[in-house]
Amino acid sequence: MKILENIPLSKLTTMRLGGEARFVVEVESKMDVPAIINWAEKGGELGEPDENGKIKVITTEKNTPWFVLGGGANTIGRDTGFPGVIILMKNRGIDIIDTTEDQVMVWGEAGENWDDFVKYTVEHNFSGVECLAKIPGTVGAAPVQNIGAYGQEVSQVIDHVEAYDTEAHEFVIIGRDEMKMSYRETLFNTGDEAGRYIITGVAFVLYDGDFEPLKPPFYASLQKYLDEHNITDYSPSNLYNAVAEIRKEKLPDPNDKASSGSFFKNIYFAPDDEKMMRLAEKSGCTIYDKPNGRKMINTGALIEKAGLKGALLHGMRVSDKAALILINENAKSYADLDAARAEITDKIYDEYGFKIKQEPVEIIPNKKSLGAK
Ligand SMILES: Cc1cc2nc3c(=O)[nH]c(=O)nc-3n(C[C@H](O)[C@H](O)[C@H](O)COP(=O)(O)OP(=O)(O)OC[C@H]3O[C@@H](n4cnc5c(N)ncnc54)[C@H](O)[C@@H]3O)c2cc1C
Repeated sequence: MKILENIPLSKLTTMRLGGEARFVVEVESKMDVPAIINWAEKGGELGEPDENGKIKVITTEKNTPWFVLGGGANTIGRDTGFPGVIILMKNRGIDIIDTTEDQVMVWGEAGENWDDFVKYTVEHNFSGVECLAKIPGTVGAAPVQNIGAYGQEVSQVIDHVEAYDTEAHEFVIIGRDEMKMSYRETLFNTGDEAGRYIITGVAFVLYDGDFEPLKPPFYASLQKYLDEHNITDYSPSNLYNAVAEIRKEKLPDPNDKASSGSFFKNIYFAPDDEKMMRLAEKSGCTIYDKPNGRKMINTGALIEKAGLKGALLHGMRVSDKAALILINENAKSYADLDAARAEITDKIYDEYGFKIKQEPVEIIPNKKSLGAK
């Protein structure tokens, strides 16, 4: 493990905002995790040899708050920074752990870069995550909000995760059925158990593309791209490349532009929710049918209707390509983001009656680190 002190959250997150974290401990092996949690809970010393072989020791007090971070692509730092320890997942590795005639189980360590993982699967002609190309972040964060794009979601292919249970203080295996996965919500980020598990690795069940090639129709914008480019070979690598090209046109590259991707969640509701149905119909937005009989309207369409697409608010740009995305063009602080967010959410509420919700997570002490049961 590597121990750092006073590191700006703006350097750890793709929105590039936020004050200093008191400690950052980089996890290079899953076996580092129990020691870090034990140290944060009980206080005392945590140490390891630095590059000169000297032991670097940091000391903390009992009940130091902690927060787990991967690539910082769905997290926002506040101006006040973080008063405890950021547990930064850097354990890497990809492995094929089981095969049958037409399926494979592929393991990714939590700190592995997500797109490198997808590329690995595509290079092996495995199918199941190819449409999740180029999503920034890590393998370990993928189950947390059930990442999805262009018609695929990790909930369709995750078999299980391995995690450190910070209440029972042991490593556990959690199967897909226990993860309560729906649109951007899972056991890991919603409800009483949110924040309890530190995911150390994920097992995915994928198809061998030779046996189970994906078939059209694909997600509308992907299908359009395939048709326009006369692509009829739906191999994992062709689909990966198509999605990568579409994303290049539409979505900001975190290396060039600071953002957290979609800043607001789309609006999901039950068809028998009369109030929501009424508001949705009144808004004039398309009402989409989604799995499990749910309905959805696109929050980006509402933001566009409200005339905010492309607007620059307190240094935050509402993307002119996808209005769900806020780009940090020259915001000076979290306070600027806060002001921009308030303008957008208030306008949507005043004009359409919807209370829209933020997708990225704010870096505040994990409630389990404060002893919540
Ligand atoms: C340009 C851009 C485009 C994007 N496009 C998409 C998209 O198409 N679809 C989509 O779904 N998302 C998208 N996102 C959001 C983001 O890429 C995903 O949410 C991704 O999974 C975040 O990974 P991360 O490692 O950066 O997570 P972080 O931001 O580091 O963490 C996110 C959350 O997961 C928790 N967490 C992280 N690692 C672990 C772990 N090992 N164990 C337990 N909890 C953990 C954190 O505590 C936090 O609550 C996009 C973001 C950007 C910037």
